[in-house]
Amino acid sequence: MNFLRPTLLTLACLLALPSHADDLPSLGDASSAIVSPQQEHQLGRAWLSLLRGNVSQLSDPQLKDYVETSVYRLAETSQLQDRRLEFILIDSKELNAFAAPGGIVGVNGGLFLNAQTEGEYASVLAHELAHLSQRHFARGVEAQQRMQLPMMGALLVGIIAAAAGAGDAGIAAIAGTQAAAIQEQRRFSRQNEQEADRIGIVNLEKAGYDPRTMPTMFERLMRQYQYSAKPPEFLLTHPVTESRVADTRNRAEQAAKGGVEDSLRYQLIRARLQLIYEGTPGLAAKRFRALLDDNPKLDAARYGLALAQIKGGQLNEARESLKPLLAKAPNDITYNLAQIDLDITNNRLADAQQRVDRMAALYPRNYPLQQVRADLLLKQNRPAEAQKALETLLKSRPDDPDVWYEVAETRGLAGNTIGLHQARAEYFTLVGDFDQAIQQLDFAKPVQATISRWRRRSMHASARFWNSSGWSRK
Ligand SMILES: [Zn+2]
Repeated sequence: MNFLRPTLLTLACLLALPSHADDLPSLGDASSAIVSPQQEHQLGRAWLSLLRGNVSQLSDPQLKDYVETSVYRLAETSQLQDRRLEFILIDSKELNAFAAPGGIVGVNGGLFLNAQTEGEYASVLAHELAHLSQRHFARGVEAQQRMQLPMMGALLVGIIAAAAGAGDAGIAAIAGTQAAAIQEQRRFSRQNEQEADRIGIVNLEKAGYDPRTMPTMFERLMRQYQYSAKPPEFLLTHPVTESRVADTRNRAEQAAKGGVEDSLRYQLIRARLQLIYEGTPGLAAKRFRALLDDNPKLDAARYGLALAQIKGGQLNEARESLKPLLAKAPNDITYNLAQIDLDITNNRLADAQQRVDRMAALYPRNYPLQQVRADLLLKQNRPAEAQKALETLLKSRPDDPDVWYEVAETRGLAGNTIGLHQARAEYFTLVGDFDQAIQQLDFAKPVQATISRWRRRSMHASARFWNSSGWSRK
């Protein structure tokens, strides 16, 4: 099967690597010797799939779309040469973000809770992109001249585990404390941190942000966690000191004024996160309403209130909350997606369909909209059309396990049995479960033979195989 080949090949290459650094050619260039950019890329992808199989993630398409778009925008003005990025959004309230070798960008939900403006959010990611562009990881490995290459794999897991908050015993066990400790020393050396801050500030300004948001965030975090016995992971790996704040402040002050500090779009996405991490929709509604009472012009709070009401089943109230927002910005994609969500929840499928069609004409490539379009078709019991919509989405998101998961479900409903097993194999590959992936391909084989037999007898294939086994979401 073609689609499995790249990942299996990567793993085969990793296994075939010589076990001593002595066997490797040394190119003498500190940034390209032991670990080549291509090796980094492959390792990064392989470990991303392992990480995906081991940590709980946020799969909200609007959130994913926002993170991807904003980071790609920052990458454009960064020093990053290889801009093939992959993203993982970790379902954790704790403040953290990380960039792993090979262009893997990880963001915790907690970053949105802690970064009060888009500029603050961007300053964390600009810093992380700088770690990537300066290849701090490869340079760290290079410095460790006698390091055995297979250990590099363990180190990668180490960084990822550390970055993800090391909450998962599975990853921690593979990582090995020693490997993780060595890597921590390298990647989070003070010099690398300072360099990432400085390059990040330049990137922020080039991308149109006000880089003063970086020291502003650092200052607040420093005050907030000054006496905390258990600061968030990000502050353990990135200690915020008076001198770090002063250094970033001095550099940021040299930037021209007038850069972007915040955006409504960021605040809307932030409201989605606040709702996710609030105990109940009722509590969230109360909090958003309190914000609105203080400032009735706070559109993000009104939006958050509407979402909380939809989630809590107060559908008429939600409709009232969305009304002024849609009146103000009738073509805004975020508000319209909320209205579509409301209409679907309210079983007003024709209304939802009409709005989806109108929005699709305005935003034909919008990922959250494409996703909701497929969901709506399924809800209307039109699996063949849903399947077609998802196949289109796959063209722009071929490595997204969330999309493959839905593709598998939808192909099953549409009676496409071989396609179902192939989609499941893709999904399991992307989340690092290769045994299950191969099993799914084995399922597809007898099905394929059976179907050709059926075809000869002019019979239609039934979906009897599609629910075989081993299918559960990671
Ligand atoms: Zn850093």
